[in-house]
Amino acid sequence: MAEVDLTSVGKVYPDGTRAVTDLNLHIADGEFLVLVGPSGCGKTTALRMVAGLEEISEGEISIGGRVVNRVPARDRDVAMVFQSYALYPHLSVRDNIGFGLSLRKVPKAEIRERVERAAETLGLTEHLDRKPRNLSGGQRQRVAMGRAIVREPQAFLMDEPLSNLDAKLRVQMRAEIARIQRDLGVTTIYVTHDQTEAMTLGDRVAVMKKGELQQVAPPQELYDRPANLFVAGFIGSPAMNLLQGTLTGDAENPRLEAGGTTLTLPASVLSERPALASRFGSDVAVGIRPEDMEDAELVEAPEGSTLVSTAELVEAMGSDVLVHFAIDAPQVVTEDTRELARDAGTDVLGTPDGPRTDLVARFSPRTRV
Ligand code: ATP
Repeated sequence: MAEVDLTSVGKVYPDGTRAVTDLNLHIADGEFLVLVGPSGCGKTTALRMVAGLEEISEGEISIGGRVVNRVPARDRDVAMVFQSYALYPHLSVRDNIGFGLSLRKVPKAEIRERVERAAETLGLTEHLDRKPRNLSGGQRQRVAMGRAIVREPQAFLMDEPLSNLDAKLRVQMRAEIARIQRDLGVTTIYVTHDQTEAMTLGDRVAVMKKGELQQVAPPQELYDRPANLFVAGFIGSPAMNLLQGTLTGDAENPRLEAGGTTLTLPASVLSERPALASRFGSDVAVGIRPEDMEDAELVEAPEGSTLVSTAELVEAMGSDVLVHFAIDAPQVVTEDTRELARDAGTDVLGTPDGPRTDLVARFSPRTRV
């Protein structure tokens, strides 16, 4: 086990494409760090540089305190798990898991013992003598994990390991990976474009965009205090509502003027971000999470918290019902009660001009400006 450090790391591919810029990350010993971001943001490149599969153009990477910029992949003592499981079809599960150890000339008896221990951890004991083609997708993924575990590396590097599984299996394996990582306590860097995976797995989550780190924080902090509009929009499903308007009032009584509506904002938005003091009179975006919007008929609305709106679309998702509203230009989404959905749904679905439903914006500590 080891800590992993990236210091001012950059990557420019031979064709001139810049994939990563000035990336600084400290991953603590035993930590589970998730790198997340949209396609092409550079997360795979960053991981491959740690693995030694891609040259580092700028900066320094160290694993366990040792600078590895010039250390070949096989000597970095890390184990990579890919989205394509890359299993050897002609080898049994046992031999697939033990393959790396055989290459390293580990004594046979020890390989046997380590493979069986890994199989036990992964629930693969009864499949050890099967060939990969006779396994389900989830079991194959476990074998790929087994190959990483059995090496007892300083760090696990995982690149979208669940993306080839169906939705149900993905959720199941996600829990498995979390459990295994916790049990083994191995430092892990995990790449995904799926923010739910990032939020549920990571001790901390690093959000990247166009090769640059946007924010790195524990999942809840990312959700409650996104550092910028990109993170606010990327983390959370349905996404955070962003109301555009002008910041008016003063530090004690900040307000948002948006499309003829005046909303009273909590004074805490300024105490948390003093730089906003210079933004009075300017355009700002106020972020409100869907679960902080409520039907004005069902709750008492404090003055200055009501938005005049029209329900436009209802999406019933089983446990949650999402209601999309039009508030002048921007769209607002709320996770609300079934009653509101039923009211809105019966009258609104398929009707462009639905009934007016006023919304209460509950300004919680996670309201961001
Ligand atoms: P995805 O989720 O789609 O895998 P990603 O966030 O992992 O995306 P990378 O694969 O790291 O992104 O790619 C980052 C950027 O570098 C992209 O613009 C990509 O086109 C570019 N890139 C990746 N590999 C190469 C390469 N071998 N040569 C040139 N450019 C590359």
